[in-house]
Amino acid sequence: MRQPLVAGNWKMNGSLESVRSLLDGIKQGIGSVASAEVAVCPPYVYIPAAQAALAGSPIRWGAQNLSDQVSGAYTGEVAGTMLKDFGCTYAIVGHSERRALYGETEELVAKKFATAQSEGLVPILCVGETLEEREAGITEQVVARQLDAVLSLSGVAALATSVVAYEPVWAIGTGVTASTQQAQDVHAFIRDRIAGHDGDVAAGLRVLYGGSVKGSNAVELFAMADIDGGLIGGASLQPGEFLSICAAAK
Ligand code: PEP
Repeated sequence: MRQPLVAGNWKMNGSLESVRSLLDGIKQGIGSVASAEVAVCPPYVYIPAAQAALAGSPIRWGAQNLSDQVSGAYTGEVAGTMLKDFGCTYAIVGHSERRALYGETEELVAKKFATAQSEGLVPILCVGETLEEREAGITEQVVARQLDAVLSLSGVAALATSVVAYEPVWAIGTGVTASTQQAQDVHAFIRDRIAGHDGDVAAGLRVLYGGSVKGSNAVELFAMADIDGGLIGGASLQPGEFLSICAAAK
């Protein structure tokens, strides 16, 4: 039985004041959604605020990225050990914005995945196709390539202590959500591909959907057999909306 996970990706939004009020709002309302696991991923500098607000609550926190390196002369980078120092459970790796805007290759994403795990973090590996790739009928090829980069570097056993998020790029921040069947088809493909290596790992793996999830569409998405919760961008910045998505993942 896979416990659903709803994780908020706050991206580069907020101020110390707004982050504190968002954290408070989520913490106040979480009592009613206790059966789904809930996590938030603030910008790095607000992670200590998340730790201060959420320690002792059922809500976990994580980072939106991490360095593929352990320490040293890597100006501007943040190491997994530093994230652990501030109580992070999760680190998102391979978000499409990092792949597209910061040139993160499949190899780099795979290295970040491996580094996160070796430093005791649970990677949330984002995969997904662009609109052009979907229209060209190569969604499965793209997702397979993204998964295979991680499988070949870390091996299938590593997937057992990770989370995968299927995020069609055309659905992120656009207001356009994949249909429940489109999402389910890719989720099933991801699980099948991993099952080709290890059936138990595939059966236990949480595969989240991300892309314009809202309170109004979360119930039907999360009802699909292979959708185990969501990675939520815009809607995670509004406590009421985020909590209603969390409630949908019960
Ligand atoms: C995301 O950035 O991971 C995401 C899913 O964004 P949104 O929910 O805003 O589409």
